[in-house]
Amino acid sequence: MLLKHTVYSVDTVVIGAGVIGLAVARSLAKSGREVLILERNASIGQETSSRNSQVIHAGLYYPQRSFKAKFCVEGRRMLYQYCRERSVDVQQCGKLIVATSEASFRDKLVPLYHQALRNGVTDVKLLTDTAHIADLEPHLSHVVAALWSPSTGIVDSHHFLYSLLADAEAHGATLALQSAVEDSRITNGVELQVGGMWIACRNVVNAAGLWAHQVASLLHQNHPWQPPKQYYCKGNYFRLQGQISPFSRLVYPLPDERGGLGVHATLDLAGMVRFGPDVEWLHENIQPDEIDYTMGSWCRIMPVFDPS
Ligand SMILES: Cc1cc2nc3c(=O)[nH]c(=O)nc-3n(C[C@H](O)[C@H](O)[C@H](O)COP(=O)(O)OP(=O)(O)OC[C@H]3O[C@@H](n4cnc5c(N)ncnc54)[C@H](O)[C@@H]3O)c2cc1C
Repeated sequence: MLLKHTVYSVDTVVIGAGVIGLAVARSLAKSGREVLILERNASIGQETSSRNSQVIHAGLYYPQRSFKAKFCVEGRRMLYQYCRERSVDVQQCGKLIVATSEASFRDKLVPLYHQALRNGVTDVKLLTDTAHIADLEPHLSHVVAALWSPSTGIVDSHHFLYSLLADAEAHGATLALQSAVEDSRITNGVELQVGGMWIACRNVVNAAGLWAHQVASLLHQNHPWQPPKQYYCKGNYFRLQGQISPFSRLVYPLPDERGGLGVHATLDLAGMVRFGPDVEWLHENIQPDEIDYTMGSWCRIMPVFDPS
């Protein structure tokens, strides 16, 4: 925590110690900049970066030549290499995207296969031999075809986050926890208010995740700025308790029309399986006590996975 009544001055402040903030801080510190990371929580990676599927995506889905397609394919290679070099737990288990009808095979799976090839993901294979698919994953049912992506994998996200932090700190970056940015003012550079004190800096990186809009509004106080509209969405995960995963690969349905990749079976590095996330759009000013945390959407999984 930063001490009150002290005036700090630093070249660059990174707001947020999720995976984005830590990766940016690492990179800036390695390039020789003086970096201070401000995180409002008591430890790093407590928000979206530790509440996800931990999947290293191959880059199958995104529109050709989009930044997402480009960065996902390049980033996946870099991430595997980084994990190998830094001994971060990772497993290139591959993933199957399954079609459960001839129509979805023809109209969705085949186009997805071509999309993947256009994005430079050249190791994908269309599997149409259902006996072969059953050999690979005997617990799948109702599958008529599958797209096999061998370069998809899983990573231990906590291990990865701490490795990024260690790199950043080894290059001189400083992490301040319980240090929420509450206000800002423009002087020669930017001053940020944290717990009643002001930090002067020349550069600010806003890596505040779901709160990036709020932080951006603080930074734009003196300039008219219309933040992009936010659309909130909730995803539930369901854990198969007390059982090692029946699957040895990630298993995905075809992408969900409501958004998202569809409720998928995600393995973790301990060999357990979770199903999720499903997709539940929330209204703009949703309050936490309005959100339904029950398991009502379990039935959405059933068309693809036999829950027995
Ligand atoms: C359900 C789900 C599943 C996903 N699965 C995958 C997956 O399998 N693979 C994949 O690659 N991606 C996945 N993603 C996406 C990925 O998790 C996110 O893109 C990524 O974690 C975003 O990281 P971030 O650093 O931007 O945000 P965050 O992890 O949210 O970090 C932002 C940080 O900023 C801090 N902060 C906020 N406001 C302030 C403030 N005022 N002052 C100081 N600190 C502040 C927060 O406390 C937080 O620590 C998934 C996302 C979701 C929602």
